[in-house]
Amino acid sequence: MALPVLPISAAGAPRRGTTKRMDTFMTLLIDTVIPRTLDALEAELSASKPDQPVEAWVFEDAAARRAAEARLAAASVTARIRSAYKPLLCFFLEEVDRAALRQVTIRYPRHPQAHDRRFLAEAYPLAALLDGVALSFEAGEVALTYEVTLTAKDGTTATHSVFAPNRLRDGVLANCGWQRLLGEDGAALTTEFEALFAAAVETVRAQGWSDRIGAFDRLTVTVEMPGADQEIGWGDEVISFREAMHEDLFFTLREMLAPDAGLDRGARPGQIVPDIRATHGAARLRITGTMFAEADETASATIALETADRPLGMAQIRAALGALGGQRFSTLSREGREVAGLYKPGPGPAVLITAGQHANETSGVVGGLRAAQALMQDPESHFAYVPVENVDGYELHQRLIVQNPRHMHHAARFSALGDDLSPAMAEPDDERRARYEGIARSGAKLHINLHGYPAHEWTRPLSGYLPRGFEAWTMPKGFFLIVVHQKGWGEIAQALLAAVSARLAEDPALVAFNALRMDAMLAHTADSSFGVMNGIPVYLSEAATYTTPLTVITEAPDETIFGAAFVMQQTTQMRAALACVEAYLRLR
Ligand SMILES: [Zn+2]
Repeated sequence: MALPVLPISAAGAPRRGTTKRMDTFMTLLIDTVIPRTLDALEAELSASKPDQPVEAWVFEDAAARRAAEARLAAASVTARIRSAYKPLLCFFLEEVDRAALRQVTIRYPRHPQAHDRRFLAEAYPLAALLDGVALSFEAGEVALTYEVTLTAKDGTTATHSVFAPNRLRDGVLANCGWQRLLGEDGAALTTEFEALFAAAVETVRAQGWSDRIGAFDRLTVTVEMPGADQEIGWGDEVISFREAMHEDLFFTLREMLAPDAGLDRGARPGQIVPDIRATHGAARLRITGTMFAEADETASATIALETADRPLGMAQIRAALGALGGQRFSTLSREGREVAGLYKPGPGPAVLITAGQHANETSGVVGGLRAAQALMQDPESHFAYVPVENVDGYELHQRLIVQNPRHMHHAARFSALGDDLSPAMAEPDDERRARYEGIARSGAKLHINLHGYPAHEWTRPLSGYLPRGFEAWTMPKGFFLIVVHQKGWGEIAQALLAAVSARLAEDPALVAFNALRMDAMLAHTADSSFGVMNGIPVYLSEAATYTTPLTVITEAPDETIFGAAFVMQQTTQMRAALACVEAYLRLR
């Protein structure tokens, strides 16, 4: 459907019950094509035919880089084209015979405009790939080069300097392209990956919206770019330029439009949607601002809950909730979707179970439904339940995973207003009201809040690499638990953590899964913020801000997974919720 191009009106106040407006206003902010850097480089070198070997670093997958090298060789040009992103990992994947190694020593560089262990993090998950090899990392000099010493099983030793091209962008050290003749310094090469990002940021900055929250309902940043996703061959890890572009664009634009967003999750810049698509040709950037119209819904097949290996469609969730019975309650979201819940009275101490506060975390939705089904069969149980809190985000996630099923899509974490469904929201005025209704009806003092996080590394290569404000969430450490309690509830919080972690540890596959990921993460970070109980990472803290005196938050590495991995996480979510209810009944 062709859409009329009209100015964006000021909006942003919660809108309820306006699901059937037929008009959709749209403003086109930019539509531009940017040549593919690898093609331009190939054309330039084929024409100039340098008589020395050339080295270049671009944001392209290994297959595309090897193919370009081969075509250049046929044109009598010797070139080595490397990855500008995660260069040390790619060095080991592409240029080292890992099976022949006995010992590896790596001095990783540091830089005053980067996190002290940024280059150690960027090498992730090398430690896991070098299983059985004696590996040591050492902090090195202020530089842009990893110094690598390889000792083979036959005793021979080789040293390599692995260049990591970076430049300062907005005051932070960020990955960039590079070009040089072998043995020379060369210079930064502005790639299409960086040009797309810069053009998007400049286009939005030029609107002068930072002091005018709510200038649009939905800001869609459509990017077409080269670079196929590459499996690393360990866990769920993948090198994905498109996923990195989504994450960096989303958070950079959010930070720009809502400057306090890092500290104040309540900032409401509107819904920002990076829609990143693959192409083999020139890159393209298109940004539109639109107003919400009909609250549509992505169609999805109904699947069995016990073996659900992917996120459920909203129609199935609605039907499953309806089949549970109990007393229904509901409210409307910002876009006008129903947020439904149920209350089941009973003699036991009441609990509230919710999922989908962050809608790109989908295993808790399945696990929550399965737990609610089990609890409905128990005449003693007493609970309120909201299967999906952030229904607008959930619909966005359903749309985004059609294009890129295995990307983390943090745009869908937030509400349609662009904020987190924050636990500190005192007077909810939209979808948050479902949670408060559940607490009011049941009198629950315990909130079981089912969450997830990325199952593979989360990065922002164009803004300092580590995601600002989320540095502790960049690498998976398995299924973990967070318990937050108000004053006077510390003892029961501690006992609950012990009981739930012990129950989860009855699954040896989960404990083994967690151990592998914790080992890989700890080799590449210095995170000591969490404890471990029964093989489960745990956090325990006191805070007055949460709605209930006691909150148990599950964290499943689920944002990017399908198949057996998803079945494992959603089943663990169910087990955690039921273990929590069982232990609470005993401890109260
Ligand atoms: Zn979450």
